[in-house]
Amino acid sequence: VARITGLGKTFGEREVLTDIDLEIERGEFVALLGRSGSGKSTLLRALAGLDGDHTGTLTVDGAVAVAFQEPRLVPWKRVLANITLGLRHPQPRRAARVALEEVGLVERADAWPLTLSGGEAQRASLARALVREPDLLLLDEPFSALDALTRITIHNLVQQLWIRHRPGVLLVTHDVDEALLLADRTLVLGDGRIAHETRIDLPRPRHRDHPGFLALRREL
Ligand code: ATP
Ligand code: MG
Repeated sequence: VARITGLGKTFGEREVLTDIDLEIERGEFVALLGRSGSGKSTLLRALAGLDGDHTGTLTVDGAVAVAFQEPRLVPWKRVLANITLGLRHPQPRRAARVALEEVGLVERADAWPLTLSGGEAQRASLARALVREPDLLLLDEPFSALDALTRITIHNLVQQLWIRHRPGVLLVTHDVDEALLLADRTLVLGDGRIAHETRIDLPRPRHRDHPGFLALRREL
């Protein structure tokens, strides 16, 4: 569903991405790890088509939805209106309500974005991406501000949606366990390149105490 060839990106003198090749298939769940500042968000923005100023080629076959690292809600629109913004759906308000219910935020549908907590804003942003049922779903640390219990709920939600609609997913995360629980493949970005790649051939649903899981965690 997405193909990147020879992607390079510099900010002034700083070369952040160097010659990245990456393919994401429809229905494939890819996790992207790497140190802070390694270029994960930069790569995501390029894939989302939000950055024309790079070298190499990017092709995406279908619709893309993004949940950014910082939620980016439109402050002068209420939460529900943020979800329906630009949404092509026969019943956009209804679909948005369902999405808000799924992320546990329906009681904040009429709230202003600036009154949301960090985790609530993240969930609103996630609902906005999920409701679009895209072919390629880009998630930039969408779970980082969530408490442990909500995080598990949202993991399950993302997995259910992924199983139902089979988009390609690129999930940026700092959490190795999260990557191993959710992804088919993990990539580690380092020195502007894909420094390490692991295929995760473990049955789903996955558990942290599965021996294969423990072995992979040691490897990463
Ligand atoms: P984190 O895990 O902290 O979110 P990241 O891997 O997502 O990090 P990026 O946001 O992609 O990192 O940034 C990669 C590098 O590019 C960083 O050193 C950052 O300072 C730099 N950078 C990002 N955006 C810009 C910009 N608009 N102008 C200049 N430098 C930038
Ligand atoms: Mg980032």
